[in-house]
Amino acid sequence: MGDTKGTFFVKIKANSGFTNADYLAKAAELAKKYGDGTLERTTRQSVENQGVPGTNEDKLMTEIYASGLATIGMGYCTEGLVGQVRQDIDEEKCNGCGRCAELCRVDAISIVLGKSVIDRDKCISCGWCIRGCPHEAVIETEHGYSTWLGDSDTRRPADGIL
Ligand code: SF4
Ligand code: SF4
Repeated sequence: MGDTKGTFFVKIKANSGFTNADYLAKAAELAKKYGDGTLERTTRQSVENQGVPGTNEDKLMTEIYASGLATIGMGYCTEGLVGQVRQDIDEEKCNGCGRCAELCRVDAISIVLGKSVIDRDKCISCGWCIRGCPHEAVIETEHGYSTWLGDSDTRRPADGIL
């Protein structure tokens, strides 16, 4: 792996590993512009830009979204920046099938009176429900990223045990 100490890697999402020439061209452009010019193909089928200095994080994330791409994460050792989304349910489209509730890893979704309802106190804004809804009823309303110190185990802070 090409992780470089003191810099970040950025994962650009590829749906089920599918990419096209425009996707790769843009990823390569971003790698040269904001990172060390290295692109890595990961075992999870995304493409990673390597060697991104902290001063370039915000500009890179902004350009990824502005160009129509998306990120599924960014990190380095004990630090991580992770793409985040907020969402709303389109009740006209939702048929209460429950697929989103099955996908949600923090049990933030319930089906109430045949419609999906999101518990905002539990939701960690991962976006799986948006990607997984077969009826396009989960609508992205906002996107950005958050910083996790301690990698993905810290996405939901918890009391420690001494
Ligand atoms: S997966 Fe979509 S249609 Fe099914 S309950 Fe969730 S929001 Fe509604
Ligand atoms: S964004 Fe993630 S955590 Fe929030 S409701 Fe959807 S699947 Fe659950």
